[in-house]
Amino acid sequence: MGAVEVIQRLFDVIIIGAGIVGAALARELSAYAMRVAVLDKAAEIPSGASRANSAMIHAGYDDKPRTQKARFCPSGNRRFHELQGSLDFTLRECGSYVCAFEEDEIRHLDVLLDQGRRNGVPGMEIISGDTLRDREPHASREIRAALWAPSGAIVNNFEAVVAFMDNAQQNGVELFLETQATGLLCSEEKQEVFGVETTKGRFLAPVVINAAGVHAGEISRMAGEESVRIRPTRGEYFITDKTVGHLVKGFFFACPSTKGKGITVASTAEHNLLIGPTSTPQTDLEDTSTTMKGLEEVLDGARKLVPDIPPGAAITSFAGVRANTLSGDFNIAVLRKPRGFVNVAGIKSPGFTSAPAIALHVVEMLREELSDRVIMTPNPRFVPERTHIPRFAELSMEEREALVRRDPRFAQIVCRCETVTEAQVVEAIRRGARTVAAVKIWTRAGAGRCQGGFCGPRVADILARELGIPLEEVTRHGGHSRLLVGRTKEYWFRGNE
Ligand SMILES: Cc1cc2nc3c(=O)[nH]c(=O)nc-3n(C[C@H](O)[C@H](O)[C@H](O)COP(=O)(O)OP(=O)(O)OC[C@H]3O[C@@H](n4cnc5c(N)ncnc54)[C@H](O)[C@@H]3O)c2cc1C
Repeated sequence: MGAVEVIQRLFDVIIIGAGIVGAALARELSAYAMRVAVLDKAAEIPSGASRANSAMIHAGYDDKPRTQKARFCPSGNRRFHELQGSLDFTLRECGSYVCAFEEDEIRHLDVLLDQGRRNGVPGMEIISGDTLRDREPHASREIRAALWAPSGAIVNNFEAVVAFMDNAQQNGVELFLETQATGLLCSEEKQEVFGVETTKGRFLAPVVINAAGVHAGEISRMAGEESVRIRPTRGEYFITDKTVGHLVKGFFFACPSTKGKGITVASTAEHNLLIGPTSTPQTDLEDTSTTMKGLEEVLDGARKLVPDIPPGAAITSFAGVRANTLSGDFNIAVLRKPRGFVNVAGIKSPGFTSAPAIALHVVEMLREELSDRVIMTPNPRFVPERTHIPRFAELSMEEREALVRRDPRFAQIVCRCETVTEAQVVEAIRRGARTVAAVKIWTRAGAGRCQGGFCGPRVADILARELGIPLEEVTRHGGHSRLLVGRTKEYWFRGNE
């Protein structure tokens, strides 16, 4: 029997997890002349909580002053606004309302206002129910007051993760998909970390950063650090089609409770209506199923805020799993032992908002606490900007004609619901999309009312053609999720042999 080949790759820093935290960190590290690897077990990004959340860029009034959440949320909000133009992701300034119906909820608005001011949130005020309805005519008549936070915004969370990672890759970071971290490589008695054992071989580096979302507890335990205990909590949502996206302009929250920020109603970055989430503790880290009970709960909660939401407008449902912890705060720390290991764990809401600020903080931690393991000199080829694939649906007729003159594949509509062209799909594949789900993330093909009924087979054909693989090998989201198992006639012939 021949020797088993052990693939070894050498880096300066390895990041486990390519959610918003891993992607934002990779982008910041790409400003330095170092070899950075990002490992993710999924076949496309985002795949964890960064894929399935409310996509709210929170203002920062929810969290108790002096917590890590209170520190990173408002600064993450500012950083999202700063980077939107240069990284070209969709961010819509909409502001947010926390709505109060009862006397104790009205009193709670004062607590949030005070917290927000202490956390440095700009421009907040408490407005009456009537003022709210002047601005938002579909708001419930039962709402008596609301906390208005103008810096709250809604982001296209798919585009944001892809944008950070795309820019990082342009600057030299390497992303390894379908590469699961299965162990840490450490010196004797776990004094030092020197790499990661994965399903695709060994990755060696003197610094390993754990940004594995709900799996951060497992990765931390591999390092011998038991303090990260994730308590997964599922949140279920509805998405409606764009015909009712106009019902609200701002992001509506019910008053927060011990279960979390409560049910929200918001118009997404693409003007669908987002309704949810529930808050259901579970043991499974990956269970993102939706239930009739959960969806009824969110519809009831949403109708309390905005009674005009029609029941039949839903086009799909989804769920995300929060990485809750007992402390309730983020757990961001350089471990003393094994040296070189960094936890960026327990990143629950407002984790999406906080990620770009967390990334800057982790870079500072590496500079101050791990300078013996990693040298941080500027990357002379660092380019801070990138552009997204042209958003054909949003362009004027003149802009569309110009694109078609440049590339006739812009005249081939692949997804009718979202007006996505063949040229966009091809460009997504050129930039790394390998699955039908990845093409949807990059282009929105399949995100419309028919949910891929029309464009699914066309996207699969283009993937097969561009990747030079048989159609049967095209997957929905990697692994065993093949769309076709074979050709009907082959099965018919085999059955008659
Ligand atoms: C229902 C819900 C609503 C939310 N709403 C908001 C909101 O409106 N605003 C906000 O700011 N925040 C919100 N959040 C929180 C936010 O989504 C998360 O804090 C954030 O996305 C966490 O990002 P992350 O990169 O830490 O984790 P993730 O996005 O989960 O990424 C972790 C990655 O690690 C990979 N991974 C895991 N284990 C391994 C392994 N062994 N090897 C390789 N890769 C691995 C996974 O595949 C995944 O891609 C919400 C969360 C949920 C669930």
